[in-house]
Amino acid sequence: MPKIPPLDLERQFTAIQPEISAAVASVLASGNYVGGTAVTNFEQQFAQYIGTHHCISCNSGTDALYLALRALKIGPGDEVITSPFTFIATAEVISRVGATPVFIDIDPKTFNLDTDRLEAAITPQSRAIIPVHLFGQAAAMSDLQSIAATHNLYIIEDCAQAVGATWKEQAIGSLGHVGCFSFYPTKNLGACGDGGAVTTNDPEIRTQILLLRDHGRREGYTYETVGINSRLDSLQAAILSVKLQYLDRWNQQRQSVAERYGDLLENIPGISLPTTAPNATSVWNQYTIRITNAKQTEAPGERRDLIRQYLRNIEIASMVYYPLPLHLQPVYTALGYLPGQLPHSEQASHEVLSLPMFPELTAIEQESVRDGLKAALAGI
Ligand SMILES: *Cc1c(COP(=O)(O)O)cnc(C)c1O
Repeated sequence: MPKIPPLDLERQFTAIQPEISAAVASVLASGNYVGGTAVTNFEQQFAQYIGTHHCISCNSGTDALYLALRALKIGPGDEVITSPFTFIATAEVISRVGATPVFIDIDPKTFNLDTDRLEAAITPQSRAIIPVHLFGQAAAMSDLQSIAATHNLYIIEDCAQAVGATWKEQAIGSLGHVGCFSFYPTKNLGACGDGGAVTTNDPEIRTQILLLRDHGRREGYTYETVGINSRLDSLQAAILSVKLQYLDRWNQQRQSVAERYGDLLENIPGISLPTTAPNATSVWNQYTIRITNAKQTEAPGERRDLIRQYLRNIEIASMVYYPLPLHLQPVYTALGYLPGQLPHSEQASHEVLSLPMFPELTAIEQESVRDGLKAALAGI
């Protein structure tokens, strides 16, 4: 592990170890390892936290998105509009249900879907929009909601990176028809393994997801549709119930870390800092800067990659989310997108660099990151 890691789950665990251990011990002693009160308690707590009537837990954020699409009966012949600047899971699930992802470019200021480009992408085949609340910042939801309503489209929010973020003071995951969350360990609310959840106010969507996550059965051994097996383990649910109580505090600490980065890194030539839109909050799953001012002679991304290597040599971690936007991925060659077609996403993929970000990151460590960055910029 580098001296300054991208995130440090050990520090978090050490701080709450007695509570986690007690929760785990209690599930182990209960003999109830699948379902049971640990799972239903967490689902209730999480629905309350997000402010929706229902929460249905499942095995991962990927499954949450897949179950949402299936519950809305989206399939072959349908189109789903989303961002090309996200983790593969967002688009992969669209393909897995047999529908076609339609990528529109991002707003370079927020890295989120540019809602001004939505209407032009809507066709008679469009069924849904998947806004991704990237890096922890809520996507611009107001225009998206009115455009979706006008064109009768579903909104499936990809909330994997932004649990606790708000748009106009409303929690993400409560703004669309369905909210999809991941509890992968690196997310702001992370399990000790895989986990996910769907939030919704719609009882019919809830019923469909309950059916689909349990092999397509409502009860007993009668199967109505082809489902999957997607469960949140009782152990993970018990751990998540403990951690949920700390989530707001951790998100506030992330906010302080982001503000401190803002102070430390302002006015350094060659980088630009992340911004938060007026109606949005961010819970800073990532603190992502841009390395700008590339020379004409440099290959796209070269400057950023050199800086990353420099930092790595002095044991400061940094990450590139995402080095190749989805519309240009080999898996989507058949969709026919060309380089240059979604220029803001492509430029972002060449410039972004995510710095170490976690609630327990210290001021001294952040100063080292600043010093390292300055040295890296001077050295290239
Ligand atoms: C992590 C992530 C997912 C998938 O979540 P898993 O729990 O890893 O399946 C989906 N979308 C985005 C934007 C993510 O960051």
